[in-house]
Amino acid sequence: MTKMYVIQGGRIYTEDGVIQNGHLIVKDGRIHQIKHFPYQGPLDVIDASDQHILPGFIDIHIHGGYGHDVMDASVEGFAALSKGLLSEGTTSYLATTMTQSEEAIHTALKAVTTYAEQAKTTPDKPAAEILGVHLEGPFISEHKVGAQNPAFVQRPSVQQVKEFQQSANGMIKIMTYAPEVEGAQETLKALSNEIIFSIGHTVATYEQANEAVDNGAKHVTHLYNAATAFAHREPGVFGAAWTNPFLHTELIVDGIHAHPAAVDVAYRMKGNHAFYLITDAMRAKGLQDGEYDLGGQNVIVKGKEARLASGALAGSILKMNDGLRNLLKYTNASLEDLWRVTSYNQAKALNILSHKGSLTEGKDADIVILNDNIDVLTTIKSGYVVNNIDNK
Ligand SMILES: [Zn+2]
Ligand SMILES: [Zn+2]
Repeated sequence: MTKMYVIQGGRIYTEDGVIQNGHLIVKDGRIHQIKHFPYQGPLDVIDASDQHILPGFIDIHIHGGYGHDVMDASVEGFAALSKGLLSEGTTSYLATTMTQSEEAIHTALKAVTTYAEQAKTTPDKPAAEILGVHLEGPFISEHKVGAQNPAFVQRPSVQQVKEFQQSANGMIKIMTYAPEVEGAQETLKALSNEIIFSIGHTVATYEQANEAVDNGAKHVTHLYNAATAFAHREPGVFGAAWTNPFLHTELIVDGIHAHPAAVDVAYRMKGNHAFYLITDAMRAKGLQDGEYDLGGQNVIVKGKEARLASGALAGSILKMNDGLRNLLKYTNASLEDLWRVTSYNQAKALNILSHKGSLTEGKDADIVILNDNIDVLTTIKSGYVVNNIDNK
């Protein structure tokens, strides 16, 4: 159990607006109180004057970082990745798998559950929490593999998804899939109450994407990457994403996966309630340039880019706070409008808004404190305070 303390001053972003120069009391790992006036009393104080206090980031699409990858299926690897993520303000995430052999995916899913169980018994070691799994492939289109390995692309079936879900102990929350392939419709209809179906790595038409939504699909995976582009006579998946109000979308905002203007268009079309900032990061995040691997494929990391030898983008090395900084710049929107795309929307989609996704009394004390440059100064996970000296 953590002791009771106060975060004082700054700007506290809540569902009801921004509180300036108020205070937030953390007790027993939860947000105990939020008040509109400065604190005076005996508790220890974290001075957040001139800083921004947001809910901890929730990354619903991340393959790895800090030297580790979900497909390594290493319990120690998950521990190190989860600890590393606190440095960018991420307090929870969906471990995201890649298109690999069935056996490799089952092994990774089992490792996620083993780690998640183990993490529950060590709450005193602060680390980002795995909320579940995003299964990216193998049920995608061989025509839009991106950095996924085409050799392992498969057609979906209810039985097979259930088998993956069994290995994951029910933790699969999102599944990227191509709605146009054989078996996709039946699988969607049978399982869309249990798993969020996310349209991606697909050559679906505008009509097929909208039909998928009618049948229960809810998200678009990394908008602008690995799906049918917008054209004025063939609006494609991206046209459907822009115009269908029931379709929410992920976006990698690193300035490389999509042009800043395209990001701005997406924000104008979807607004702040139907948009998820993701990193889609791979293991080289937080490390130096060099050669790495992503789901068994060789990747060259240089500057801010990670590419296969073919030149195809191979995930990103984006951090959540950097994505948020870029998004503020590309859209000219305010942090008051944008904080939701890093936490609230994700918590709502994952049906965990009762305890995460906003700074509200009674919710988990998963908090990030940022300066004006959107550097992470402090991350708080279940009440445990982790100062990020590197970014100060
Ligand atoms: Zn992808
Ligand atoms: Zn991905």
